[in-house]
Amino acid sequence: MTRRGPVRAFVGLGSNLGDAKGNLHAAVVDLKALPQTSVLAVSSLYRTAPVDADGPDFINAVAELTTRLSPHELLRGLQAIELSHGRQRPYRNAPRTLDLDLLLYGNTRINEPDLVVPHPRLHERAFVLAPLEELAPRLTIAGHGSVADLRSATSAQSVDRCMEPPPD
Ligand code: ADP
Ligand code: MG
Repeated sequence: MTRRGPVRAFVGLGSNLGDAKGNLHAAVVDLKALPQTSVLAVSSLYRTAPVDADGPDFINAVAELTTRLSPHELLRGLQAIELSHGRQRPYRNAPRTLDLDLLLYGNTRINEPDLVVPHPRLHERAFVLAPLEELAPRLTIAGHGSVADLRSATSAQSVDRCMEPPPD
């Protein structure tokens, strides 16, 4: 594996099955255990009605990481965490115990069959932009503009901030 400097990455967390808040708190513990990775910050939790998905309301959050893992190594780590929480994919957009998306990996743009970064729907989803803006209000998404402007453009989508970040 090539040695690389640390990269700032953002991961979107979502759950709408079972104890959704508990699932996200457990996922943050697992993110902290990823090799060569530190969790710098975790947003508040946000509640939204499902978009393009079935089932109860979603709880969403964003975590800010610094990592020496490659983008694909990080994706595999996120998928292993999803699986360890019993995520199944019975059909597209099914309710899920845990969804972890790699939103941003530094300023890197990736367009491969199994990995697209910045995440292709990040710029249009208020439930991602609201927690991202909380952590990094001055961040810019390559090809889409500032998080603050994107969040304003999605203000018609209702997202409720539902509690403070979990204690460390
Ligand atoms: P959703 O788009 O609702 O998050 P899934 O989590 O089921 O749907 O999608 C997972 C698939 O998306 C995986 O096969 C993964 O390879 C692919 N994928 C592409 N880009 C990303 C990304 N940036 N983060 C996470 N998964 C990604
Ligand atoms: Mg996903």
